[in-house]
Amino acid sequence: MTALNISLDYDHTFTADPALWREFISSAQRRGHTVVCVTGRREPPDFTREPRMPDSIPFVCVGPDGLKRDAAAKAGYPINIWIDDMPGVIEPCRILNFD
Ligand SMILES: [Mg+2]
Repeated sequence: MTALNISLDYDHTFTADPALWREFISSAQRRGHTVVCVTGRREPPDFTREPRMPDSIPFVCVGPDGLKRDAAAKAGYPINIWIDDMPGVIEPCRILNFD
């Protein structure tokens, strides 16, 4: 089995069901995979006010103008699998981007 880099989006993905994704993160890490939160935010969430991700999860903050694929790779996480409610922000895609 290959160790995977898995991107888990924060807003409307992790936050849609934090308990589900915490179980997923534990299972993935137990199996040797790396889960990274690649978010469109400019800064990581404030966990004193918002649903907490495990401390072991690194954050890559892309900001509104970047593509997640490029930002994650630049941060040292070439992503194998994306979990995201807005797939059009990951990479250029003729199907998902209409401009
Ligand atoms: Mg999202």
